[in-house]
Amino acid sequence: MRIVISGAGPAGLYFAYLMKKSQPSRDITVIEQNAPDDTFGFGVVLSGRALSFLSDADPAIVEHLLKHMQTWSDQHIVLNGQRIVIDGSSYSAISRLVLLEQLQKLCASIGVKIDYRQRVGDPSLARECDVFVGADGANSIVRDAFPQAFGTEIVDLKNYFAWYGVKRPYPAHTLTFIENNGGAFCGHHYRYTPDMSTFVAEMDAATWRSSGFGAMNDDERRKSSEVIFAEPLGGLPLVDNRSLWRHYRIIKNSRWHHENIVLIGDALRTAHPSIGSGTRLAIEDSIALWRALEAEGTDISAAFARYQREREPVRDKLNRAAERSIAWYEDMRSKMQMHPLDFAWDYMMRTGIMTPERLERECPQFMAQYRAHAD
Ligand SMILES: Cc1cc2nc3c(=O)[nH]c(=O)nc-3n(C[C@H](O)[C@H](O)[C@H](O)COP(=O)(O)OP(=O)(O)OC[C@H]3O[C@@H](n4cnc5c(N)ncnc54)[C@H](O)[C@@H]3O)c2cc1C
Repeated sequence: MRIVISGAGPAGLYFAYLMKKSQPSRDITVIEQNAPDDTFGFGVVLSGRALSFLSDADPAIVEHLLKHMQTWSDQHIVLNGQRIVIDGSSYSAISRLVLLEQLQKLCASIGVKIDYRQRVGDPSLARECDVFVGADGANSIVRDAFPQAFGTEIVDLKNYFAWYGVKRPYPAHTLTFIENNGGAFCGHHYRYTPDMSTFVAEMDAATWRSSGFGAMNDDERRKSSEVIFAEPLGGLPLVDNRSLWRHYRIIKNSRWHHENIVLIGDALRTAHPSIGSGTRLAIEDSIALWRALEAEGTDISAAFARYQREREPVRDKLNRAAERSIAWYEDMRSKMQMHPLDFAWDYMMRTGIMTPERLERECPQFMAQYRAHAD
């Protein structure tokens, strides 16, 4: 079987690795427009559940990655300077570059060919292989060549954000909400190496206009963010790596395959980071597509149909959670008027997935504090 994959991000690399490992005779090529060490972003978060998913597919990879990960068991929610600790969460983060390096090494060790600095201009390569995988991210050329066949829908959300880094190791995954000159701002920050953290800065649409961010260039936006987030940044500068301010963009496709072409990862569906990282979802898509191809053998259309049938309900559940979470963030300005404990409770309940019983079980210390306040 000849497989060509467009894009050597987490989705493309992990899919290539699983396919080659389970059947070494498969001829697999990944085509990547960038150089191997040319990446954007800082640290990516993987939940305990995501790691166990990865471990089910291949325990060796988790062992490999854990050596490079930072883990924490608390989440902190800070509202206008008041910190609420949510105990009982299990999350890890890894540098995106290190994750890609590890996946590249695994692929190379079993003979996956990766062609760097080659751009896929259109999906005509699909004619030269049995399976052509669009793993080329949110701006997928493969997907955009067949918008009707894939049933592509793109929605721009209202809030604005940018991914930065900061040379500061936070003790926990932290959400810092700040009111500044009538504007509503949120920083999502977590460490991914012993001395480095991701810092995602976000604001609602009204703040984008009233704070003047809309009229600034990205350099001015970074400098203004350093002033607004001076407290959680400890006065340190934000590190820029193609850190452009933009809207979140939700991409959906009603059909996940077309002829011998199939989509995975951000090319298929983007996610709001507040319900788990896009990296985790991308890797889970790779596992689902690999499992479907293993189950159906050379019957590609049956495998693609199985992939969508089995993975879509899980993705749909996350999508519904994401939509509720997005609505919560778009309304954060009014939420921020609450008492910090009510605010933290509201945040934890925002997706409809968490129940009061589960919070009692998983976050007993937070719940004791919350009940004492509510009584
Ligand atoms: C700027 C930015 C920063 C981010 N930072 C973080 C972060 O710090 N933490 C976090 O958890 N998540 C982050 N994310 C989200 C996360 O990176 C994605 O959800 C995740 O990487 C999806 O994996 P993927 O393999 O589907 O796509 P991607 O990681 O986007 O990989 C797609 C690959 O395809 C390649 N490609 C694209 N078009 C072509 C083409 N025509 N020909 C050949 N190759 C092509 C790209 O160069 C890229 O290597 C960030 C996203 C963006 C856009």
